[in-house]
Amino acid sequence: MRNFDVLIVGGGVAGMTAAIYAKRRGKNVCIIEKFTLGGQVLTIDKIENFPTQKLIDGLTLCGMMSEQVKNLGIEVIADDIISCNLSQSVKTLTGKKDVYQAKSVIVATGLSYVELGKNEDEYLGKGVSYCAICDANFYKNKPVIVVSKKGSGIVDANILSEVCSKVTILDSEDMSAFASVNSKPKIEVVSNATVKSVFGKGSVEGVKAVVGGKATNFDAEAVFVCLGKKPTKLFDSLKKDQNGFIITDENMRTSVSGVFAVGDVRSKPLKQIVTACADGAIAGANA
Ligand SMILES: Cc1cc2nc3c(=O)[nH]c(=O)nc-3n(C[C@H](O)[C@H](O)[C@H](O)COP(=O)(O)OP(=O)(O)OC[C@H]3O[C@@H](n4cnc5c(N)ncnc54)[C@H](O)[C@@H]3O)c2cc1C
Repeated sequence: MRNFDVLIVGGGVAGMTAAIYAKRRGKNVCIIEKFTLGGQVLTIDKIENFPTQKLIDGLTLCGMMSEQVKNLGIEVIADDIISCNLSQSVKTLTGKKDVYQAKSVIVATGLSYVELGKNEDEYLGKGVSYCAICDANFYKNKPVIVVSKKGSGIVDANILSEVCSKVTILDSEDMSAFASVNSKPKIEVVSNATVKSVFGKGSVEGVKAVVGGKATNFDAEAVFVCLGKKPTKLFDSLKKDQNGFIITDENMRTSVSGVFAVGDVRSKPLKQIVTACADGAIAGANA
C-alpha cells in the first residue's frame, strides 16, 4: 500500500499539468499511468490550436512536459487502476500491481479506444492496432483492414494508404456515397460489413466478416480498429452526463468531495490540449 497527498490517475497532458501544479504547492503527489506519459498527444503528428511559437508535434510536447514532471521529482507509477473506493475521506485506488491511498484524487483518464469486442485481445501487438498514425509504418507495403462505423475509419485509412499496399475499409453502414467519390485506388470500401473475428496463426492473417448477410474472409496483415473513443467506465460513484463524461464545477470538483476530474474525461464542450492543461492547473491548485 502506498500513501500520497494527491493521486492523479492518468499521465496525459491534463494529469501531468495537475501534478506540476500540486507538486509546486508542496504536495506529495504521484501520477499513476498504465502506458506512457503523454496519452493521446503522443499520437499527434502536427498539433493545431496550441499557442506555441512554432508548430510542434506530439512527441516533442510530451517530451518537454514529462521532463518537467521528472525535474520536479514527481513520482510516476506504472499501474492500471481497476477499481476505487471514494466514499471515505481517505480514497483508495486499486491497481493491477498495488493499492494506493490519498485524501485527494484527480481523475485524468482521458478517452480510450472503442474496442471491437471480439477476439482482438489475442492479437494486440501482433497485428491489431487502434492507432494508424502510431503503427502504420510497421505495415509498409502490406495489406491492412480498417474496421469502421459510419466512416469513423476514413481518416486512418488515408494515413495507412500512404504506406500500405492496400487498405480495405470494412464499415458497418452503407458507405456507397463515399466509395463513389473516393479517388484513392489503394482504398477499397466495403459497406454493411460486420466483423465477427480476427484470425491468424500467432499474428493477424485477416478477419471473418458478414457482408450483406454473406460470410466472407478478408486477408490482411493488420487490423486497425477505428470505432472512435469513449470515456473510462471507472469511477461509477461520480456524477456523469448522458455520454458518460464526469460532471465537475468550475474548480474541477466532482460530485464526491476530494475527487476532481480534468481533461477529456470531463463533461465539457471543447476537448483540446489547452483546455486539458487548464483543467489540470485548476485541479492541481485546489486538490
Ligand atoms: C489524433 C488526435 C489529434 C488531436 N489533435 C489535437 C490538436 O491538434 N490540438 C489540440 O489541442 N488537441 C488535439 N487533440 C485532442 C487532445 O489530444 C486531447 O484533448 C488531450 O490530449 C486530452 O488529454 P487528457 O490528459 O485529458 O487525456 P489523454 O491524453 O487521453 O490521457 C489519459 C491518460 O490516462 C491513462 N489512463 C487511462 N485509464 C487509466 C487507468 N485506469 N489507470 C492508469 N492510467 C490510465 C491513459 O493511458 C492516458 O495516458 C487530438 C486528439 C487526437 C486523438
